[in-house]
Amino acid sequence: MLQDTWKTRLFRFAHLQAYGQPTQHVTASQSSRTILGRTLYKRKTMTQSSHWLNQIKGEVRSSELMSQHTSLRVGGPADLYILPQDLDDLKLILRNHADTPLFFLGEGSNLLISDQGVRGIVVSLKRGFKNIALPEFFTNKQGKECATLKVGAGVKMSYLAKFAAKYGLTGIENLAGVPGSLGGAIIMNAGAEGTEVGDVIKNVTVLKEDGDLVTYDHNQLVFEYRNTTFPEKPCVIAHAEIELKSGDSAEIQGRIDRYLKRRSQTQPLSLPNSGSVFKNPEGMKAGQLIEQAGLKGYTVGEASVSIKHANFIVNKGVASASDVRAVIEHVQKTVKEQFDVELKTEVIIAGDW
Ligand SMILES: Cc1cc2nc3c(=O)[nH]c(=O)nc-3n(C[C@H](O)[C@H](O)[C@H](O)COP(=O)(O)OP(=O)(O)OC[C@H]3O[C@@H](n4cnc5c(N)ncnc54)[C@H](O)[C@@H]3O)c2cc1C
Repeated sequence: MLQDTWKTRLFRFAHLQAYGQPTQHVTASQSSRTILGRTLYKRKTMTQSSHWLNQIKGEVRSSELMSQHTSLRVGGPADLYILPQDLDDLKLILRNHADTPLFFLGEGSNLLISDQGVRGIVVSLKRGFKNIALPEFFTNKQGKECATLKVGAGVKMSYLAKFAAKYGLTGIENLAGVPGSLGGAIIMNAGAEGTEVGDVIKNVTVLKEDGDLVTYDHNQLVFEYRNTTFPEKPCVIAHAEIELKSGDSAEIQGRIDRYLKRRSQTQPLSLPNSGSVFKNPEGMKAGQLIEQAGLKGYTVGEASVSIKHANFIVNKGVASASDVRAVIEHVQKTVKEQFDVELKTEVIIAGDW
């Protein structure tokens, strides 16, 4: 019922764009048909204040299943899913969403979204934030040739690493196997093979809650293990500049190939997963603790602790988010009981639980 209401509303917007007819408000009886615990108040707010959606140049979809946008392939529907085309679309969303919650989605490779989905608006930067400007070369203080790359937040790390290699630029190749976007990698300070994304960041441009842009230099940001702290919590990262050194293109590509091969040998990449589920506790490896606890293969529904890598949970078919969460909680409980260690999740648990 809710889906139909949203669809009806979107058709109305499309009609409005085509014919310029005034918006008809949803009636009280329509509004009172709620599922998933959404309140009458929230739906009325969305309906009465959503005329701005007409101005979005990108795409607006209703009831989009998040399982289509997460690497774990789980997650229920988002009330609205918007693919902004450019910065103006993004500003429009920030300035008009009122009290409707926003959630920003990168490649969905570090997310566990509930089966109930996400109330409010999910904004994906997959559409309009994919640009990489040509490198700007310069010589640094040590006399080394370097280059700056301006990169949209929606650019995939794998693409960015290959792009840099093509221009003979080194520094980001270690992250070629991280299946996320630059925006997600910055939020998570993604790391691999001894490199963290923070190591190459020159500055990051974000949109604040009021829709204004602000650029933070590297020294204003705190890059920690799987977390970046901003002077003010950013709403959304729009783009960033990274600084790389000149190197040999073939050698850089060779390193990328080696890293990717190593990943395919050690990680369960043939099944949907969200990478390492737990952060490594200080001085320990989460995967080793889980393996020593005898939890490899532990299964709830269709979600299992991977046999290949104990810090991965794989979706063996049609796992639900609840299955995955039950596995996470069992692993945490067992590791706590056996080793008195609290495993904290690296994967972000989001949505309407
Ligand atoms: C097979 C596999 C291997 C992995 N290997 C690694 C690894 O080696 N190292 C590592 O660190 N991680 C790894 N990961 C985890 C994941 O790829 C990284 O955390 C990645 O950086 C997440 O990026 P994303 O675009 O997918 O973000 P998402 O999962 O979509 O989002 C993650 C968080 O970032 C926020 N976010 C995303 N984009 C933006 C934006 N533009 N503005 C504001 N907030 C934003 C989201 O709201 C969310 O809070 C792996 C995952 C998989 C599936």
